[in-house]
Amino acid sequence: MCICVNCHWVDRCKAYHTVERQHGAPHLNASPDIEPNDPRIHISVMDLANGESGIEWDVRQCNSFLEDHGRWLRLRPGEELPT
Ligand code: SF4
Repeated sequence: MCICVNCHWVDRCKAYHTVERQHGAPHLNASPDIEPNDPRIHISVMDLANGESGIEWDVRQCNSFLEDHGRWLRLRPGEELPT
């Protein structure tokens, strides 16, 4: 799970913007303005149901993380939390 979904900066963060792009997900903000301090992005390869493989990007650690539990869900009410 990407820690960004519970971070206060998620809709302003340039690193999360990159994670959204890698996932092909719609952006929370087209012009993020926060450069996070030392985000550690974990990249893993997953097997998909159709026999292909996909790449999962998750921020697992970040010095700029500021806990704001449920921030992403409040910005996108009713949508499924990205995994
Ligand atoms: S945890 Fe770091 S990379 Fe993720 S949204 Fe917050 S500031 Fe950005």
